[in-house]
Amino acid sequence: MNLPKGFLQRMQGELRENFPAFCACYEEPPVKGLRVNTLKLSPEAFRARAPFPLGDYIPWAKGGFYTEGERLGADPYHFAGLYYLQEPSAMCAVPLLEVKKGERVLDLCAAPGGKTTQLASDMGGTGVLVANEIDYGRACILRENLVRMGVTNAIVTGASPQKLADVFPAYFDKILVDAPCSGEGMFRKEEGAALMWSPASVAGCAARQRDILDAAAGMLAGGGRMVYSTCTFAREEDELQVEAFLARHPEFTLLEMKKLYPHEVKGEGHFAAVLQKAEGERAPRPVLPKFSPAKGYNFDPPGAAGAWKAFSEEFFETVPQGELRVQGMWLYLAEGLPQFDYTRVVNHSIGVAVGEWDRKRFKPAHALAMAYGKYARRKLVLTREEVKKYLRGEALPCDLKDGWCCVTVEEFPVGLAKVTGGIAKNHLPKPLRLRTSD
Ligand code: SAM
Repeated sequence: MNLPKGFLQRMQGELRENFPAFCACYEEPPVKGLRVNTLKLSPEAFRARAPFPLGDYIPWAKGGFYTEGERLGADPYHFAGLYYLQEPSAMCAVPLLEVKKGERVLDLCAAPGGKTTQLASDMGGTGVLVANEIDYGRACILRENLVRMGVTNAIVTGASPQKLADVFPAYFDKILVDAPCSGEGMFRKEEGAALMWSPASVAGCAARQRDILDAAAGMLAGGGRMVYSTCTFAREEDELQVEAFLARHPEFTLLEMKKLYPHEVKGEGHFAAVLQKAEGERAPRPVLPKFSPAKGYNFDPPGAAGAWKAFSEEFFETVPQGELRVQGMWLYLAEGLPQFDYTRVVNHSIGVAVGEWDRKRFKPAHALAMAYGKYARRKLVLTREEVKKYLRGEALPCDLKDGWCCVTVEEFPVGLAKVTGGIAKNHLPKPLRLRTSD
């Protein structure tokens, strides 16, 4: 494969006798991986039912498998959120954060959500997970992935790191900064990254990373841990970036650094550094804006709570518990999640968006089915083959009584349908549907 000359020269200087092995691995195909969503099932249970070949466990990631399967994004189990397709080396950063149940965790550069969903698995539905992504389009994809995986304890925000730092000073126990970078470690997987590379882009990324890290430092509580990661080999973005950060922030110490090279591990290139902040302040809550009804901040239209109660008691065998929050027409279950200016929140992503209430009718949301559908009274249980019709948006015959039901592939929810006279009308959101070509 064609790699940038300047990049190769620099790598030759750094890797010396290992340089030929490094170059040779670019003639090999990239390594593929997936990570089982332990919020839905165990890695062993997934292996037992996987309909495509799974290789070895990925040694550094719980629930990670190598796989050579094809078109895994179109598989019904993918729609059900049983796994996330993730490059194996990219799974190395989250375990270094050592996230514990109940902690407050920030993923500062989060889209499309590979590492956020890995964090969510480790948190097991407890604590607070703030997933931030500055690019709105990418933040919407991040939200979709969190919904698909059935995550209940996340808020997706779309702020710059500096703006977020005004809201969450000294708030988080753990922060992941998976920074935008020059992507040298991804050249084998994404040839486009090699075409975009230049020494100037490395310098530009390094400057941006510096600002992101400084904002992150202020959001970490005293005694907190931060992992800084990139998918590049450039020292300016990796070791030198960390060295400069430590010089600017003497309250931090470096615990560990890891650099994965594709000629040494089964995976692409990745870098991660673990930083510990000295004991100090841990803020009890985020900074609240002045209350503004115009912004719809926790605005509660009459009847919303009653509408949710009536719907949930009829729909569920076991009603999901949690604090109900209302914003405009949207209702959320957001147990233990912080109150702050929700105008920063991306596209209905506070905890679980349970549905919409227009003062007359309650309409359940897709996210409700993905998070809590397993507790529904009425389920339309389909096989892997049958569910494809639902995933393509078709209506289905069924013998359930009229009303809302949860559609599942085997026992795993994939969405909602509304039954009338023996026909289940499809309510899978159009952008999420399987294309007819798949
Ligand atoms: N952590 C993600 C995952 O595992 O799926 C990948 C994150 S990607 C390496 C870096 C992200 O940082 C991109 O989504 C990009 O839009 C975002 N980004 C770009 N510029 C940024 C900035 N100035 N501040 C914060 N994030 C930025």
